[in-house]
Amino acid sequence: MARAKTPTKSSSAKADADPVAGHCNAPPRPPRPVEPGLHPNRMFMVLRLDTKWVNHTVLHYCFLDTPALWRGSNADKDVVRDSFQAWKDLPIGLDFVEVTDPREAEIRIGFQQNAGSWSYLGRVAIDYITDPAERTMNFGWDLTTPYGRDTAMHEIGHALGFSHEHQNPKAGIVWDEEAVYDYFTGPPNNWSREETDTNVLSKLPSSETDGSDWDPNSIMHYHFQAGLILSPEEYRTSPLIPEPGLSATDIATAKALYPAPENPDLPELRPYESHQLRIDPGEQVDFVIRPEFSRDYTIQTFGRMDTVMVLFEDINGEPHYVQGDDDSGFSLNAKITQRLFRGRTYYIRLRLYYAEAQGEGALMMY
Ligand SMILES: [Zn+2]
Repeated sequence: MARAKTPTKSSSAKADADPVAGHCNAPPRPPRPVEPGLHPNRMFMVLRLDTKWVNHTVLHYCFLDTPALWRGSNADKDVVRDSFQAWKDLPIGLDFVEVTDPREAEIRIGFQQNAGSWSYLGRVAIDYITDPAERTMNFGWDLTTPYGRDTAMHEIGHALGFSHEHQNPKAGIVWDEEAVYDYFTGPPNNWSREETDTNVLSKLPSSETDGSDWDPNSIMHYHFQAGLILSPEEYRTSPLIPEPGLSATDIATAKALYPAPENPDLPELRPYESHQLRIDPGEQVDFVIRPEFSRDYTIQTFGRMDTVMVLFEDINGEPHYVQGDDDSGFSLNAKITQRLFRGRTYYIRLRLYYAEAQGEGALMMY
């Protein structure tokens, strides 16, 4: 494994203990379009959830075989498979299924070595990376080491919508900025100053962090060698090395956002029945639809709220994405019109970003 560069400032043996092959180089998140003059509180709620999946989504992942330099070893693929399973087993409400056709995969994985490890954040993968030949995730080093296993867990964390923990504004880290640039612009990372800003120095908006306190043991936290952090002072002379695996806060955050199903008996959405939405921001409601007739149906929210609404069809017991609508940040209502067929089963999943008041909105199919 390539040794991390030792910054000029720290020459102690302890600072040399950094086991890092490289650091995750996540691509920047595209700006969220919203209507002008959006109230800051509403904006906060929209940004808090806009890269997250609706719960109970089945995410399909695929290992890309072409071009050949993206192809991974079986050992590395097994680490990625195990890591998806480890997130699933928390348990959470998302599901992960390996597929061989990249056109069916929301998450498309390459193993281009020495090209960095990175992943797009949550739904950015389907909203912006629409070419099935493109990667949404890459692993740039050996995954069969303990650090490699944590890298797989970390990149999947990004794919679930989680951001870097060391950029949590509540971390209160004071950086030695020039030491950070020196370190990350050198090998093995060789980043630009902009990439260093994006992945290390920039503080995230508090909307992206679920308001949790700094968790230096998070799987979403980098390893830092001594001398890059001025405060807390202990890291001037000691490296910051998160404990391996998911932290207690990682597990609690994932389970709060994606709770595992407790009651599989979903309420039924029938034509012309209005369902008042008594949920808090961040929460989700799910309905089952069993159409009596094959025809076009419209499923729509009513009231002043921002939601993401996704329609799935049950195919052999697995929900498949049909259509989604996200009205967040605009004075519109989420609306899906789709031909539904008698004898088939569908699910509608609706997550609330923001409402002017609880119980303000309703959902109806007509
Ligand atoms: Zn990362």
